[in-house]
Parts: sequence; structure tokens; C-alpha cells
Amino acid sequence: MKNEYLIGVLETVKKRNAGEPEFIQAVTEVLETLEPVVEKRPDLVEAGVIDRLVEPERQIIFRVPWVDDNGKTQVNRGFRVQYNSAIGPYKGGIRLHPSVYIGIIKFLGFEQVFKNSLTTLPMGGGKGGSDFDPKGKSDGEVMRFCQSFMTELYRHIGADCDVPAGDIGTGAREIGYMFGQYKRLQNEFTGVLTGKGLTYGGSLARKEATGFGLCYFTDEMLKANGESFNGKTVVVSGSGNVAIYATQKATELGAKVVAMSDSNGYIYDKNGIDLACVKQLKEVERKRIKEYVTTHPDAVYTEGCSGIWTIPCDIALPCATQNEIDKASAEALVKNGCKVVSEGANMPSTPEAIEVYLSNGILYGPAKAANAGGVATSGLEMSQNSERLSWTFEEVDAKLKGIMKSIFAACDSAAKEYSTEGNYMAGANIAGFLKVAEAMKAQGCV
Ligand code: NDP
Repeated sequence: MKNEYLIGVLETVKKRNAGEPEFIQAVTEVLETLEPVVEKRPDLVEAGVIDRLVEPERQIIFRVPWVDDNGKTQVNRGFRVQYNSAIGPYKGGIRLHPSVYIGIIKFLGFEQVFKNSLTTLPMGGGKGGSDFDPKGKSDGEVMRFCQSFMTELYRHIGADCDVPAGDIGTGAREIGYMFGQYKRLQNEFTGVLTGKGLTYGGSLARKEATGFGLCYFTDEMLKANGESFNGKTVVVSGSGNVAIYATQKATELGAKVVAMSDSNGYIYDKNGIDLACVKQLKEVERKRIKEYVTTHPDAVYTEGCSGIWTIPCDIALPCATQNEIDKASAEALVKNGCKVVSEGANMPSTPEAIEVYLSNGILYGPAKAANAGGVATSGLEMSQNSERLSWTFEEVDAKLKGIMKSIFAACDSAAKEYSTEGNYMAGANIAGFLKVAEAMKAQGCV
């Protein structure tokens, strides 16, 4: 980065957020791609838009006490970062994972601002979570945790103010418990959370949306470069919500998915993953992915996560977590003939891995564009809740497809306009930024 103003902003960010490497990483990536914008739009610099964007509007940290099945008090830490409300109410998921701390929630909130802007819907950016680990807990323990979490969070959120959703560790069960507690405390039935169950205001196709949307975006990117999913070999990391529905849609589009993983290890099935089995293991029985090989003798299970990127494939879809592909894994992908990396997870590639993609002509779909289908469909759930109507699966899916198409078009044309043709990461950052920046400038110094 050469621009002195941006170098100064980044120095302030590093000083102010020392000890939060994920947040600094996310900000650095965006600032680096904004250099041509800063040169072309001095008015936005003058309005202090970037100085304001690198600081969240509000950060809330709270104690979450709950009682486990042995009657013992447990204490977790809860977070909500209301990052930016320039273009709509704060919107973003809740992550429940032991690795959660304020730096993770801030990086996710920052990314969410640009992602939500790209969806074309009126949603600001936010994110929340806790270092609580739902894995291995009983339903009763998860419920007591969720109720305690919401007992603090409810005073900070609302259908027109801040609308949380799911993320790692927060699925339909957790959203249900949180929604129930919100309703009880506020005595109102509103669309305050998305990802709700279908019997109480959830949207059809929300569960599938991030994974399907990832494939719709990737398909657009492939088509723009004279390719398609048909006949391609695909590796998908993770076996959670995003990974499962990415695998389903990639298969429907004619590809063969040969590998999936969880945080313990990965499975390789040369015959193509039997998704019904993975769904049963992960969605119903909440078991480990290694169980897959007990019913599929041709498949191989390997302990550890990073080895999955050494499996030869045409397309890699990382759908687990941040920084899961480092330089060595990116080099292994390139060496084995991979031509496309498209991100279902948030920030799954390290900066060094992205360098490897860009210098080897890999088609690279960055998370904030490629995985925006989840939050876009959450936006559609909010619209249905406001209308007191529900749309069919086909209606929602068609809207999702249209949104992913327009997100790709926006990334593509911003990249061309700012002389970085084919660099969809730069295109996504620039297109997402410009809409938020115009709104911030118009609303004055707030
Ligand atoms: P889930 O909790 O449903 O699944 C997460 C998957 O990733 C699991 O297989 C999990 O394995 C694995 N995983 C989690 N942490 C790690 C880790 N540290 N190392 C290796 N594997 C890990 O979450 P989602 O599918 O909802 O989310 C996955 C990613 O997609 C996240 O980055 C999330 O932010 C992003 N995302 C999700 C959206 C959504 O709508 N759900 C929307 C946009 C982005 P295990 O079961 O062993 O923990």
C-alpha cells in the first residue's frame, strides 16, 4: 500500500486494536483495495468516511451466567458489535464457539458491512457471539445458555434496530431458544431474529441460502470465464450449514464433491459424497464426520483439517472457518490443478494464500460477495415478517439467484472501472464500500 492517508489510517487501527489480528487482517485487505477509490474520490476522504468505518459504532460485552445439568453455575462472555447502520438496521449472525473474543466479532462485523451493502438490500452490519461451545451440551444446557444470552441482548436489538441470525454453532435450535426468550421479555412477536423455524416466521430456503448462493455466485464467475460446474471435481471444507448446502447445489449443477470435513478431520470419497449420510450424521445425530466411513468402505478418513487441500480438485469451496487455507495449502491446490476458489466461510484464506491465487490466475470468489446469499435471504425473511406473509421456496430461491447474479455483476464492473479487471476481491470491496460511503457522507458526521 502506497497511499499515505491509508497507511496512516491503518497505523491507527493497529495501535487501537492491538491483540486483534483477525480484525487488523480484515481491515488491511479492504484498505489495500481502496487505494484507487481514495485517489478518485477525495470527497469521501474529506468526509472522514474511512476513518469512521474502521471504528464500530457500538460494542457491547456482557456476562452470560447459566446453570449446567449438574446444577453448577457456568459463566461465558457475550458480545454484540453494532458495526455500521448507514444503510439499514444492524444485521449479522451470532457465533457460538470457544475461539470467540472481541477481535473475531469485530472482524466479522466489519466484513458484514460490505457484504450487506453488496446484497442490494437495506441492511447495516453487525455481529455477535459468545465463547460458549454448544458441542457436547444437552438441549437443556443450550436452552439455558441461550435464554441467559438473550436476557441481556434483548435490550440492544429490535426489528428496526438490530436483527441477529445464525453463524457457527448457532442453528435453528439456538435461534428458537433465543427468539422464545426475546418474545417473553418484550411481549412482542416481531422479526427480531432471522433463521427462525418455519412454524414461527422463518423463510423457506434460508437454511439452504448461503450454500446455494455460494454456488450461484461461483456459477456466474465460471460462466463469465467460459466455464461451468458441469463435470468438475469439488472439495468442500466443513460439514455444517454452509458446507452441506454448497455440496447439494454443486452436485445439482453437475459437479462431483469428493471431500468434506469437520474440526477433527476430513473424509475423501472418490465416488462422490453421499450427502444424505452427511445430513443424517450432522443435522440429526450431531456426530463426527469420521462416522461416514463406517457405512462407506470406499471412503477414507484422515485426522487433521489442512490435508483436505492436498486432494486434487478443479474447484475448492472453503466453508468451515477463518484462515483455514494458508500459503502452503493454496500452493498445494494450485499444484494439483485447482482453478477456482470460492469462499463460503468468512475470511477462510490468509493474505498469503490470496497472493498465491492472484499470482496463479485462480478465479477467486471472495467471501463477502460469494457467501452473501445467507444474509440476503435473511433480508428476505425480514421483508416477509414485515408483510406478515410467506413466500414459496421457489420465489425465495429465484430472488436469491437474482441477487447473487447482481452481486457478481457489481464486483465485475467495479473491478473493471477501477482497473483491476478479474480481481473480484477488489471489485467486491470497492462496490460494497461505495454505497456505504455515499450514505455516510449524506448523513453527515455521525
Ligand atoms: P456450522 O456451525 O453449521 O458449521 C461449521 C463447520 O465448520 C463445522 O463442520 C465445523 O466443524 C467446522 N469448523 C468450525 N470451526 C472450525 C475450526 N476452527 N477448524 C476447522 N473446522 C471448523 O457453521 P456455518 O456452516 O453456519 O458457518 C461456516 C462458515 O460460513 C463460517 O465462517 C460462517 O461465518 C460462514 N457463514 C455462514 C453463514 C450462514 O448462513 N450460516 C452466512 C455467511 C457466512 P465442527 O462441527 O467439528 O465444529
